[in-house]
Amino acid sequence: MTQPPRQPDSAAAAPIGALATLPVFFKLTGKRVLLAGGTDAAAWKAELLAATGAQVEVFAAEPGEKLLALAHKITLHARPWTAADFSGTTLAVGDFSSDAEAAAFRDAGRLHGVPVNAVDRPAFCDFQFGAIVERSPLIIGISTDGAAPVFGQAIRARIEALLPQGISAWAQAARDWRPSMQALGLNFRNRRSFWERFSAAALARPDHPPGEADRLAFLDATTHPHGSAVLVGAGPGDPELLTLKAVRALQSADVVLYDDLVSPRVVEMARREAQRINVGKRGYKPSCTQEDISALIVALAQEGKRVVRLKGGDPMIFGRANEEIAALRAACIPVEIVPGVTAAGAAAAALQSSLTERDVARRVQFITAHGRDGHLPGDLDWAALADPRATSVVYMGVRTLAELSARLIARGLPPDTPACMVERASWADERVLRSTIGQLPGQLAALQPKGPCLILIGLALATNAIVDAGVDRVGSIK
Ligand code: SAH
Repeated sequence: MTQPPRQPDSAAAAPIGALATLPVFFKLTGKRVLLAGGTDAAAWKAELLAATGAQVEVFAAEPGEKLLALAHKITLHARPWTAADFSGTTLAVGDFSSDAEAAAFRDAGRLHGVPVNAVDRPAFCDFQFGAIVERSPLIIGISTDGAAPVFGQAIRARIEALLPQGISAWAQAARDWRPSMQALGLNFRNRRSFWERFSAAALARPDHPPGEADRLAFLDATTHPHGSAVLVGAGPGDPELLTLKAVRALQSADVVLYDDLVSPRVVEMARREAQRINVGKRGYKPSCTQEDISALIVALAQEGKRVVRLKGGDPMIFGRANEEIAALRAACIPVEIVPGVTAAGAAAAALQSSLTERDVARRVQFITAHGRDGHLPGDLDWAALADPRATSVVYMGVRTLAELSARLIARGLPPDTPACMVERASWADERVLRSTIGQLPGQLAALQPKGPCLILIGLALATNAIVDAGVDRVGSIK
């Protein structure tokens, strides 16, 4: 069986342009390498080659001092090279005083099938030495194909500065850990995840020498990924109303789940790489139930992801947060809540009316006018709602407003009690309608709002009212 071809990573998948040379990393341990010449340049090449563990055979009629000093690392033959010396060699390098000598050397190499390098004579080279950044076993070779050696050196200096010496210990640890990692038989995904954690730690703390405790920590994080979920208040729409915590959560998210109430500009603030899933009516699934959403959050967190569940306004107000929290707790997934500006706050800001007012309204009540069956909930506290000295904020109240108004008036709330509607509070196209509880239903029916609306009822709303009735603003207030 042949091995399936390895998937190139996405960066390497782009078509490759013309290459001046091919960077390859030659394994020379125990291999015979021929070196011709007794100069300092030849000595430097001898030292480099010997450092790879090669068996370096130097042919020099007049070996220089530097070369003699390397006698313990190389085999020195005090005579010129001959064609026969090429036999059994892997590479050949020579420093010559003329092109003619270099050409003869290269021809002998060709005859024996041995790649040749002639120092500073590129025309006679089969291969070149690049500038090296040595963090063995991590080696970086730099070549300008002879175009600009000084530029190559500058690049080398830059890379040297980027990679502290300690990175070498990480590369060595990777080599040392590989057999035990292979023995664990992790699947591809986990193996990759382990080495991703390793690489991130190496680059973050290059000078910390990696030890067994690090290996175990990466392994633990890989095999027991610690997923988590954050229910984040996305606010009423304007991204400026996000909390700093919400922004931070969005910027560290792996996945963001949001619904139709959340402004696209808020979703945009998520980390670029984060996966975004619309779990609203027009998104993920045609009829995405609360159970589906809770199950999805749990499943994503169980994959080890940091899940951000963006909820319009404040997550703890008419957002069915308890069901999501319970599902996460049942799955032992840590959950955090980031509060947000609820629609009531944005509506009060749009109205420039406090929801509370000394001696006029000492109580604020948030209600939903949308029961399970889409009608007014049967268990509303009518006595409390008919109290003109309380401010009632009605969420999801447009459809049932006529019925709500009639029942409140029947319970004794004066029909001229101030009542307002704010559509798309805090959005650029926010609309405000100031009226009374007696007249609001008819006016709202004429206005036909399409966006989310809040109804606010109570005497406190008369304070600071600029216009007694009618649409204050159509369009932006900014
Ligand atoms: N958790 C949200 C409320 C979700 S219930 C919050 O704290 O605001 C959805 C209802 O909230 C909508 O039907 C509408 O009544 C109200 N709502 C949400 N955003 C709004 C906005 N920007 N302007 C007016 N009402 C809004």
